[in-house]
Amino acid sequence: MKAELITVGTEILTGQITNTNAQFLSEEFAKLGIDVFFQTTVGDNEERLLSVIDLASQRSDLIVLCGGLGPTEDDLTKQTLAKYLKRDLVINEEANQRLNDYFATHPQFVRTANNDRQAQLIEGATPLQNITGLAVGGLVTVDGVTYVVLPGPPSELKPMVLNELVPLLSGHNERLYSRVLRFFGIGESQLVTVLSDLIDNQTDPTIAPYAKTGEVTLRLSTKAADEAAAKVKLDQLEQAILAKSTLDNVPLSELLYGYGDDNSLARVVFQLLKEHHKTITAAESLTAGLFQSTIADFSGASSVFNGGFVTYSMEEKSKLLHIPLEDLQEHGVVSHFTAEKMAEQSRLLTGADIGIGLTGVAGPDSLEGHPAGTIFIGISTKDDCRSIHLHIGGKSRSDVRHIATLYAFNLVRQALLDI
Ligand code: ATP
Repeated sequence: MKAELITVGTEILTGQITNTNAQFLSEEFAKLGIDVFFQTTVGDNEERLLSVIDLASQRSDLIVLCGGLGPTEDDLTKQTLAKYLKRDLVINEEANQRLNDYFATHPQFVRTANNDRQAQLIEGATPLQNITGLAVGGLVTVDGVTYVVLPGPPSELKPMVLNELVPLLSGHNERLYSRVLRFFGIGESQLVTVLSDLIDNQTDPTIAPYAKTGEVTLRLSTKAADEAAAKVKLDQLEQAILAKSTLDNVPLSELLYGYGDDNSLARVVFQLLKEHHKTITAAESLTAGLFQSTIADFSGASSVFNGGFVTYSMEEKSKLLHIPLEDLQEHGVVSHFTAEKMAEQSRLLTGADIGIGLTGVAGPDSLEGHPAGTIFIGISTKDDCRSIHLHIGGKSRSDVRHIATLYAFNLVRQALLDI
């Protein structure tokens, strides 16, 4: 089924309101397995609305119009569609009764002839009742094309779609099921390169990569009759993806850190810390508390995090972490030595199970001869203390700090998986 959305309202065209209805409808239709091929916005103008409906009727099977169901003269969606379809508008009794009830319980408002418009329905249409407002919506099929009219206010449109429209449309279609795989340690272009044979041949399920600062996700989507059937197809594709390796032979299965739209590397680490009953601390230089603040974002953070250090200058690193100043001077603050010492001392001083040390150059200026983006991250546990050295080139100061924090979380994740 080819669907098309027509949002009606001059306020959308002038940028006064954001078209959140289109986003909501597209998401709901995707869940139903209905493909939305076009989205159009048109002002409150009969002539232009007529031409948009005419064009949509020639290319789509399902046309959903939203906005313009109110009582005033510029609310003309139903009237214009009725004109296009050459059908009359009739009063829907249930909607009319809702209007009567509303005015009976709100004596400060007086019902006028205009309010009749809100109870009107295109002849032959199935009413879509409005439980949070007064304007009735409707669905009518004419010459094989289904037309739906919905109110503009999202507080009215959403319940109408979920309670009234979705049950009418579902069952005719397979649903869309998706799974999001989240990777850290590989860029989008390399991921797409190593998966090129799968991506080039994709039909169902499909693979959609998406890159964010420092990480990349793959959304696998399939249409299926039910969840079990979808799972079989998505499992197969996921296995094929995870069997691949990066260009330097790291299996993708090692870079997969989690699933889902709302997950994050930090959240995964937080869950792992809780599952393993481990506590964490950090001494942070260039990130100045970002790592610790990210952990503290999760409710229940105190079960895994008691406190830590922000040691920006060399003197504070020495004073707060009890690292001899001459050792820091000898090795430099941007070094494996300092990152490891920061990790170890923070762990020993707080009694945490895992200590992280973050030092480096956020930029834009260089430090100790190291260019911006040079990062050392130490990790210390009771059995081990080591560090990694990265160079994050061409990024802004805030991106460098953000990406350094992600690498630190990934080190913790790997350490916890080894336990
Ligand atoms: P009303 O009875 O309130 O006039 P209506 O069905 O006629 O409802 P509109 O007049 O088109 O709808 O819009 C009313 C309000 O609903 C807008 O001012 C805006 O706040 C919101 N709205 C309309 N269309 C959209 C949209 N596409 N996305 C988000 N909000 C919208």
